[in-house]
Amino acid sequence: MRFDIVTIFPEFFGGPPNNGIPGHGILGHGILERALRSGQAEAHTHDLRSFTYDRHRTVDDRPFGGGEGMVLKAQPIFECVESLGIAAKPERDTARESVILLSAQGKRFTQATARRLATLDRVVLICGRYEGVDERVSQLLCDDEFSIGDYVLSGGELGAAVIVDAVVRLLPGVLGHADSSKYESFGEGDEPADTMTEDGVPRSTHGAGGLLDYPHYTRPAEFRGVAIPEVLGNGDHSVIRKWRRRAQLAKTFANRPDLFTDADLSDDDREFLAGLGYTAS
Ligand code: SAM
Repeated sequence: MRFDIVTIFPEFFGGPPNNGIPGHGILGHGILERALRSGQAEAHTHDLRSFTYDRHRTVDDRPFGGGEGMVLKAQPIFECVESLGIAAKPERDTARESVILLSAQGKRFTQATARRLATLDRVVLICGRYEGVDERVSQLLCDDEFSIGDYVLSGGELGAAVIVDAVVRLLPGVLGHADSSKYESFGEGDEPADTMTEDGVPRSTHGAGGLLDYPHYTRPAEFRGVAIPEVLGNGDHSVIRKWRRRAQLAKTFANRPDLFTDADLSDDDREFLAGLGYTAS
């Protein structure tokens, strides 16, 4: 899978533009760095200023209608994307390639979005700056506008890095275990809730669809006076599984009760949640 990142700050992603393998930038660490080095994914950066023709390499201009700040011009962005060999919008096969604008006004980028993008061959990410991007970029060039959360950033680069990271770790072979991404927060939930690993260890029980992960602990069993939940040390996998399910429900109730709306909850889950004070709206 190939990402093309259109930005006025290619150095943010590490390495010179177009090298496909970031150096020490935000993509150059851990799982992501390994995936890019091994060729499981490619990330190319493109300097928007290379598509300008004036002495000052101007990419922005004043907003029509007046008001604060500057707006990124459509022309360098169009020429940059057109130079990448991506089909124009009406002919574009969006099951294979997608052009995305990072924008606070976009649809929220979620794990489900990441799963969809992970099925594509090619994704172009356009990073806005200043007051934003000439609207014709969204209208005529992009398939989607995505926001990474309900806050305003000063540029789209962090959002692009978030998308590359979230998508690349879902590509086949990138995580150590093929199922790892299914059994974590917001996991797909297409497995029965009692799925075990091959060696009989209970998995996270995200089979019920898209809840938060349960709490994890590692050694020592007691740290600064706080012991691990006793059940995790007793080796009874069915009890551990039940505890994890309930811890997962409790954590989701505490931090993200909105996720219950689409969750597949059993009668036992509902009874437990009712005990915590959750009432389905
Ligand atoms: N005037 C815009 C608004 O109020 O929606 C904010 C522009 S912001 C200062 C500059 C750029 O940062 C945007 O064009 C976009 O590319 C990026 N950006 C800001 N917030 C974002 C978010 N939540 N998700 C993704 N990109 C964001």
